[in-house]
Amino acid sequence: MRMNDKKAMFKAFVDEAREIYGPDFVPLHRPVFEGNEMDYLRECVESNFVSSMGSFVTRFEEEIATFTGAKFAVATVNGTSALHIAIILAGVNSGDEVISQPLTFIATCNAISYVGAYPVFVDVDRDTMGLSPIALRLFLENNTFSKGGELYNKSSLRRVAACVPMHTYGNPCRIKEIESICTEWGIPLIEDAAESLGSYAGHQHTGTVGAMGIFSFNGNKIITSGGGGMIVTNDAELAKRAKHLTTTAKLSHSTEFVHDEIGYNYRMPGLCAALGLAQMEKLGDFLIIKSAVAKKWHDFFSSHGVLTNNALKGDISNHWFNSVTLDSKTVRDEFLEYSNSEGIMTRPFWELMPRLKMFKNCQSDSLENSKWLLDHVVAISSSVPDGALNNLKMVEKK
Ligand SMILES: *Cc1c(COP(=O)(O)O)cnc(C)c1O
Repeated sequence: MRMNDKKAMFKAFVDEAREIYGPDFVPLHRPVFEGNEMDYLRECVESNFVSSMGSFVTRFEEEIATFTGAKFAVATVNGTSALHIAIILAGVNSGDEVISQPLTFIATCNAISYVGAYPVFVDVDRDTMGLSPIALRLFLENNTFSKGGELYNKSSLRRVAACVPMHTYGNPCRIKEIESICTEWGIPLIEDAAESLGSYAGHQHTGTVGAMGIFSFNGNKIITSGGGGMIVTNDAELAKRAKHLTTTAKLSHSTEFVHDEIGYNYRMPGLCAALGLAQMEKLGDFLIIKSAVAKKWHDFFSSHGVLTNNALKGDISNHWFNSVTLDSKTVRDEFLEYSNSEGIMTRPFWELMPRLKMFKNCQSDSLENSKWLLDHVVAISSSVPDGALNNLKMVEKK
């Protein structure tokens, strides 16, 4: 990109963001509460069941199961706790290793660490920005051996106990290829689908390809319950264990308190589920609107010769975060500086996990694509614009 073109593009970007989102500060992603949120919250408060008892939590679980096509869904206090439980249920023990990607939010690696396991970082693909099946296979072929039906790392001699890829910014990674590699090598697959509610790998909802998947309903995700998470699975036994572990491992009894293992107080409160339930009613509309916003950004940036990141052909993104790939780290930094100083929030990727001091001794491959993406990609305004839900209603009435 030539200097003049670059400056012109930066300025045009700010104008376009103002066109879509109006004159005020434009955050990356804000929640929209224009449905039954207040009604359900009031109903929840008036029922007295503001914590995890009552019907809201199970209703929210049913909605997520139905929407994603998963047989079971278990609600948790946040996405991190959902990951923590999924990793325990995959049989990961202290001292084991879990394969993940260097380009992810800290929650993925924190959850691996909570059980005393070590993340191992395998590179992502440039197009999906999620775990690369080619890099995964290469890592397994070169670095592992099988013994007694288990997989071990040649250099650390630790057991390789699971694989946790992530669907970055809502764009599905090559999860089906990853799934067949994990099956071939006998390692459980857990999908960190925290960012990808409403995204599909082919016809299959992300999070439902592996043995377990997790979602997050944090305030910046596509729908929010204030704070919250969900484990999805098609395995009845795993679902039962997830419910048990997230509810202090209490045995069901009308009066007595007996617990049969160390459990967790991880069940989602009813207040959060009430909010989440109201948000679920709008998810379909959010997806339509966010797809239209993504198309606007795609057309805008195409006209400036800049690539926007999207799902692979045949897959569907929820367009949680739109992002662009710029020419260089210098252009990235100039774009970040300019847009944020103009009140249009933009953001680079997370610092790569193996560069954080907690994970600097963890094994990783070349990380070539992850480094490249960190230097070139910027996330841009992706909220549902003000009034868009109402406009959609008007379009539907016509
Ligand atoms: C949001 C997110 C999570 C979960 O975050 P919580 O704040 O604990 O709900 C996990 N992984 C990724 C990649 C995320 O973006």
